[in-house]
Parts: sequence; structure tokens; C-alpha cells
Amino acid sequence: MPQISRRVSTSAPPPPTKSATLRVEQAMQLLQQSGHPMPPGAPGSVAWLQGLIDALCDLSSRDALTGLANRRSFEAGLGREIDRVARSGEPALLLLLDIDHFKRVNDTHGHAVGDVVIQAVADALRETVRPMDLPARIGGEEFAVILPNCAPAFGQTVAERLRTRIEARPIKIGPSQTLGVTVSIGGAYAPQWVRSTASLWMERADLQLYRAKAEGRNRTCLEPTPMSEVTAEEKGLLFGTSNFGEFE
Ligand code: GH3
Ligand code: MG
Ligand code: MG
Repeated sequence: MPQISRRVSTSAPPPPTKSATLRVEQAMQLLQQSGHPMPPGAPGSVAWLQGLIDALCDLSSRDALTGLANRRSFEAGLGREIDRVARSGEPALLLLLDIDHFKRVNDTHGHAVGDVVIQAVADALRETVRPMDLPARIGGEEFAVILPNCAPAFGQTVAERLRTRIEARPIKIGPSQTLGVTVSIGGAYAPQWVRSTASLWMERADLQLYRAKAEGRNRTCLEPTPMSEVTAEEKGLLFGTSNFGEFE
């Protein structure tokens, strides 16, 4: 049987090739074009390269138009949160927001104004959520917010605060012209002490968003939270080994 060598080379790495140098230049170009600050330190140093990697990671997790988390980093956050809820039993709320009649904004004022509106809604979200919440742009004019540790008694109030802040915000679209938009919001809590999935959580919030649109828009619909209390014994079952033996 052939032996696999486990020796690790301790010799110095080869000098960077021309193509490696070009890739670094491409990365710097990408940062420059996006307006991202350049990494500090002497170009080529380890600290500078680490700064470059950090900056690229940051860039790849943000939405270019709004600076919010993009869909990919939102999905990663959703996966982390649903695991945390299953482990800790802390309530977490997912809100989905969609701008009402946004096609009219584009049709009446043009796509560039549509983009300004999307940015303004993103700003309102960023200014209204808590530091531990994760607001994201997950589609054209669709947003989501993950709210960890949000008690069900406050869910409606928190979602309504977002909705009314957006509704009350005049969006400047010209030298003396402002525009107002509204959003519909759907929300659902992650099921506590239950193994679920991020996509099932999304589906439940999406159903509520659909309901908010169908009931007339510019409103919040949250999935009703179950009233039954999970007992300590039931919580233990999530983590413990099977107890079927005690009936034998
Ligand atoms: P509803 O109230 O049912 O949500 O109606 P709506 O007109 O908002 O319908 P919908 O949510 O389907 O509209 C999405 C529109 O958003 C269609 C598309 O042209 C526009 N859009 C998607 N991405 C962008 C973008 O990045 N910028 C701009 N300006 N428009 C976008
Ligand atoms: Mg939409
Ligand atoms: Mg819409």
C-alpha cells in the first residue's frame, strides 16, 4: 500500500509570481472602486495583506447599494441564530419587509430615484434597530431583520416602530422634492426548543408578509406565538439521550 508523506516543508515560500502580484492589484482595484478604505500598513507586509483579506471579506458580505448585510451574510446569520435559539431557548424574531408599490416609484420617477428610495429605507432600518440586530437587503426592494433575544410581547411594537419610521421619513429626490413610501412587514419567531431550519423560518415569515400585502399593505403581520409552555423535562429531551429504557 503506498505511503502518504506527512512531511511539512519548512523551507521559505517561493517569491510571488507575476500572476500573484496581478491578483493583489485586482483586489486593490476592487476596494478602490467600491470606495472601501485601503488596508493600513506597508504594502506587501503581512499586516497589510491581512488588512486586504479583511477588507475583501467585509466587501463580500455587504450589499453594494445600501451597505447593509447582503443575502449571503444574512443567510449565514439566520443559520447561526436558529441554532442558537434551539440551544438556548431565547426568542428570536425574523422580520421581512417589502416596499409597497415600488414599481410605481420606478415608473414615475426613474430607476435612479428608485435606488435613492431603497437607500433611504435601508438608512431608516439601520438607525432604528439595536446593535445586536442584523438588518439586510435580501432582494431588489426587500429587506430582512434578525432580532435575537426579542420577547414575543414586544415583537409587534418593534416591527411597528420600523414601519412607522419608514412611513414618516420624507425622502429627498430632488432640490425641492420629497417622496414618501410605506412598507409591508411579515414576521415569525424561531421555534424555541425545536430543531428547525432557516428556510422553514423564512417561509413562515414570508407567509405573514404575503398576508400583510393581501390585507392592504402598509401594515405588520406577525405569526401568532404558541401559548403553551415547554416544560423543563421537555427541554431536557432536546439534549438528553433516549429514555425509552425506563418503560422496560
Ligand atoms: P408590492 O406592493 O406588491 O410589493 O408591489 P411592488 O410594485 O413593490 O412589486 P414588487 O415588490 O414585485 O416590485 C419589485 C420592483 O423592484 C420590480 C423591480 O423593477 C424593482 N427593483 C428591483 N431591484 C431594484 C433596484 O436595485 N433598484 C431599483 N430602482 N428598482 C429595483
Ligand atoms: Mg418585492
Ligand atoms: Mg414591493
